Amino acid sequence: MKNLFIAGNWKSNKTNAESQVWVKDIASKLSDISADLSKIPVVVCVPFTSLSVINYALKAGNVPLALGTQNVSKFDEGAYTGEVTAKMVKEVADWVIIGHSERRKYFNETDEDLAIKAQKAKGTGLRVIFCVPDDKTPVPTGVDVVGYEPVWAIGTGKTDSPENAAAVVTSIKAKTKVATVIYGGSVTGDNVDTFVSQSAIDGVLPGGASLDPEKFSHLIHAALAATK
Ligand code: PEP
Repeated sequence: MKNLFIAGNWKSNKTNAESQVWVKDIASKLSDISADLSKIPVVVCVPFTSLSVINYALKAGNVPLALGTQNVSKFDEGAYTGEVTAKMVKEVADWVIIGHSERRKYFNETDEDLAIKAQKAKGTGLRVIFCVPDDKTPVPTGVDVVGYEPVWAIGTGKTDSPENAAAVVTSIKAKTKVATVIYGGSVTGDNVDTFVSQSAIDGVLPGGASLDPEKFSHLIHAALAATK
């Protein structure tokens, strides 16, 4: 079996009550592949407010998913009103997405900000999924996974071609020396096989398709089936 890596990005969605329902639902839908999921990381990256409740629910239900969030502060703890530090996140999660194009676009996060965030996250032991829109955008050293996400493919229903995605992923690997590089941009259970069957592509980063347990479970099952 290929060393798949799947990270779902909830973006700014779901209350705590909705998060609990999601965990209960996904747990039952993944129970037939729990042995496979002990070998491949499937991470769900959620809003800060959902972290504690999901962390508890995953542990209590022995659900084979890892937990992450979608941002950390570039500062350490202190007088930075509204910020959530990497140390706070590490208490309840193991992963963080840094550099998502929505953070770059709506929150003006620069390459310099993102490099500091990655460094802060790594300093606490968090593992970093660093997103880039192409193979020219800088990737900080030490990140664990790179997500290649062409901006025009995010949330649009349009995907990059698997062949082009594989070529960009190959180029990112050569430039960054990061071993695990995944593709994101309108990935669903119906097209995931075309991406994960490319030998260069190590997995996928679905946004919309991770919100619905039925769709996320379909995507995970299809990715596993395509790489067995
Ligand atoms: C994303 O959230 O990074 C993403 C790729 O979203 P979607 O799968 O909805 O395009």
